[in-house]
Amino acid sequence: MRPQTGRSGTSHGVDGSLPDLFTAVTDIEASLRTTQEAGLLRSLRQVETATGPRIRIEGRDVLLLCSNDYLGLASDPRVRRAAAEAAETWGAGAGASRLVSGNLLPHVELEARLAEFKGTEAAVLFGSGFLANLGVVAALAPKGEVVFSDELNHASLVDGCRLAGAETVIYPHNDVKALADGLERAGDQPKTIVTDSVFSMDGDLAPLEEIVALAKLHGARLIVDEAHATGTIGPGGRGLVNELGLEAEVDVMIGTLSKALGSYGAYACCSATMAQYLINRARPLIFSTALPPSSVSAAAESLRILSDESTVSSGQPGVVETLRSRARTFRQALAGEGFDVEQNEIPIVPLLVGDPEEATALCETALEKGVFAQAIRPPTVPEGTSRLRLTVMATHSDEDLRSAARILAETCRESGTVLPAVKSKT
Ligand SMILES: *Cc1c(COP(=O)(O)O)cnc(C)c1O
Repeated sequence: MRPQTGRSGTSHGVDGSLPDLFTAVTDIEASLRTTQEAGLLRSLRQVETATGPRIRIEGRDVLLLCSNDYLGLASDPRVRRAAAEAAETWGAGAGASRLVSGNLLPHVELEARLAEFKGTEAAVLFGSGFLANLGVVAALAPKGEVVFSDELNHASLVDGCRLAGAETVIYPHNDVKALADGLERAGDQPKTIVTDSVFSMDGDLAPLEEIVALAKLHGARLIVDEAHATGTIGPGGRGLVNELGLEAEVDVMIGTLSKALGSYGAYACCSATMAQYLINRARPLIFSTALPPSSVSAAAESLRILSDESTVSSGQPGVVETLRSRARTFRQALAGEGFDVEQNEIPIVPLLVGDPEEATALCETALEKGVFAQAIRPPTVPEGTSRLRLTVMATHSDEDLRSAARILAETCRESGTVLPAVKSKT
């Protein structure tokens, strides 16, 4: 473990040798050339339809296999209607920060529903998951304290640590022994631990029960980011903390409205006292305009759909159960094609390629064959682990997923990528 100083990129463990993408540059063109030569240049693709299991992208109709809209709710007619009606009733924008005049009834109602959903006293809305993580980590890890952060945490938690006054200690991915040693070494300094629950690029899970035990033992606060767990894991999609019954042990559960809930914005679920603290200390909440009512009401409708359709309340396979079943189908199909894929129900399936240019080439060929899975390269992931990050949606059909597995295998064979070399980590 080492203190986090002078690092480039967003993934905070392993990118020391990457070109300095995010530090000050005097020659922008030279910087872009270096990025391109490393096979790491990024550009925007143009999507010509609403998001959904199939989209039209740069003139091509393709199966979408890299969206975080896991439940397909972004284009669900009920959710769209809720957004449209809220815009009609409440206006296109909230007009001010929540602490000025932007805290409308839909915001207040959604916070109450989120707290109920997650089993906490309170919930606080933020402008986005990125802003929530910046705000919560910076507010809870001031100067004089120590914040412990998993090396594969999301970039927004990394930046939250950078913004916080506290000393940051990065521990190796999911290494509870290293975390325990670090906590021990920090002695009686106030401590905070921060971790993703489902890691965004690998789809693996944090050992939350052990982390909770360590937090208790050392009197550390615990922040858990459930961005990819909400809507995909736990009873009725309530997340990993809920699945393990740890709601009372986690100080702040952060989640986004923009992934499985199909909208935009984010929340922190916590005690009423913590909520009051965040409202007074979290700068992205204080100094940024409240979410537009359409986003808020869309997320509220998604939550209603989750609650009404979950197996918990109806005994019928609801939308979350459908997602799990699709994930099983896809993982089986990939294994059948010769990929080394773990058989579980997580909708994030990383196909590790390694080299960034090879990952980009595979992505382009698959796209020509009608499957869109964006190549993910450093600094989003550690160097040497470029990949196609595949994501399943509840609105894919089993046949879509089997055919995607065939196309991906064919793409790898044609490019000379030996199949067993393309491993999935989860
Ligand atoms: C996507 C993501 C975020 C950011 O959420 P947005 O609402 O998209 O800003 C935060 N944390 C994790 C783990 C994520 O995957």
